[in-house]
Amino acid sequence: MEQIENINLGPRYALRLGELQRWHRLRVTCFRCRHESSVDPEKLRRRFREHTLLRDLEKKLVCTACGNRVYNVIRVARLARD
Ligand SMILES: [Zn+2]
Repeated sequence: MEQIENINLGPRYALRLGELQRWHRLRVTCFRCRHESSVDPEKLRRRFREHTLLRDLEKKLVCTACGNRVYNVIRVARLARD
């Protein structure tokens, strides 16, 4: 499991998918079951446009544990340095 640390990139809702770097990870928490997962921005780039705001991305994510798709929360993290 990769090591990540939480960072503050400023107002995350102003961030666009295209602004995330390779070392960034999105921590997604499910509103319903609290399931948490780490998402590679590269994978999202294949599905969504570069200028998609994280705010809008939250509404498109589906929890892999329970299938919930509302009120899921994205936090931006980055891979810990070696
Ligand atoms: Zn869930």
